[in-house]
Amino acid sequence: MKPVNFDYIAVNSVEEAVAALSQAGGTAKIIAGGQSLLPILNMRLARPSLLVDINKIPELNRIERVGNELRFGATVRHHQAETSPVVQEYLPLLAKAIPLVGHRPIRSRGTLVGSVVHADPSAEIPLVSLILDASLELHGTDGVRTVALADFFFGYMMNDLQADEVATALVFPDITCQPGSKRGTSFQEMARRDGDFALVSAAGQIDLHDGVIADVRLGVGGVGGAPQRLVETEDFLKGKEATIDLLMEAAEAIGDLLEPDDDPAVSAQYRRSVAIGLTKQVLIEAFLEASTDKEGGK
Ligand SMILES: Cc1cc2nc3c(=O)[nH]c(=O)nc-3n(C[C@H](O)[C@H](O)[C@H](O)COP(=O)(O)OP(=O)(O)OC[C@H]3O[C@@H](n4cnc5c(N)ncnc54)[C@H](O)[C@@H]3O)c2cc1C
Repeated sequence: MKPVNFDYIAVNSVEEAVAALSQAGGTAKIIAGGQSLLPILNMRLARPSLLVDINKIPELNRIERVGNELRFGATVRHHQAETSPVVQEYLPLLAKAIPLVGHRPIRSRGTLVGSVVHADPSAEIPLVSLILDASLELHGTDGVRTVALADFFFGYMMNDLQADEVATALVFPDITCQPGSKRGTSFQEMARRDGDFALVSAAGQIDLHDGVIADVRLGVGGVGGAPQRLVETEDFLKGKEATIDLLMEAAEAIGDLLEPDDDPAVSAQYRRSVAIGLTKQVLIEAFLEASTDKEGGK
């Protein structure tokens, strides 16, 4: 199938993009890498009157460290982040997740911000961004606002983006580890084939200080309409001495926090079981990495 007819404009500034979205009165869409949008247009699941291309806005293509934050502009490609030394150094969890996004040609066009806005519950970048407290910077006709991802996702591919808004940056705060702590991270997923969307995924980051869990981030994807941060599990683990038994107990207990649906692909019970298994792997891998002699985090 082919898309229905649409107009196309390539803008040179964020202001032009907002003006174009506003003039279209809710019938336009931003195009960044097109890796999710074009298949949707081809299937006629979306029928925008206008595509607003933001790829010619130079300032959106930067990865910038500002103080203790790391900012990804809206046209930063997965591949750009994957090969960035600053990402490897300061966001090791993101660095582990990106190579699992599709295949290399998809990562060379697709953007981190586009992935977050697209809000697929199985996608890697929204899950990592959520558990690392990232936020989106949104420009619209009423000005600029910042939305924490904890408040951004409403449900399956639904989010808080307004029709006249362009997301300009994905911002990760507090990228450094506390002095004296060591950081370990892990991203695990189950997919039918290499490069496919995950059926279920799990992501985690542990900061250990003298064997005690000083900070922990944990979440799962593909078990509901949006990526899910496991706040209760984080609270249970924080401040305790890390042992394999403790981590296994915590992972077993996440089953009660999940509400997956049955669907034609797999049953809800299967998704729950896989999520528990992946969470065990994540916690063990992150714990072992944080326990090694290398200097974790920065
Ligand atoms: C074969 C294939 C396999 C894939 N496998 C995976 C996978 O395993 N994991 C995974 O996570 N993804 C996967 N993807 C999806 C894809 O990689 C991401 O969803 C994609 O990178 C999104 O970024 P984009 O720049 O391409 O967004 P686009 O396709 O350009 O846009 C996606 C949506 O976000 C909106 N949007 C984009 N940028 C902005 C912005 N700055 N402001 C406002 N709205 C915006 C668009 O209007 C559209 O609704 C796969 C895609 C394909 C084709």
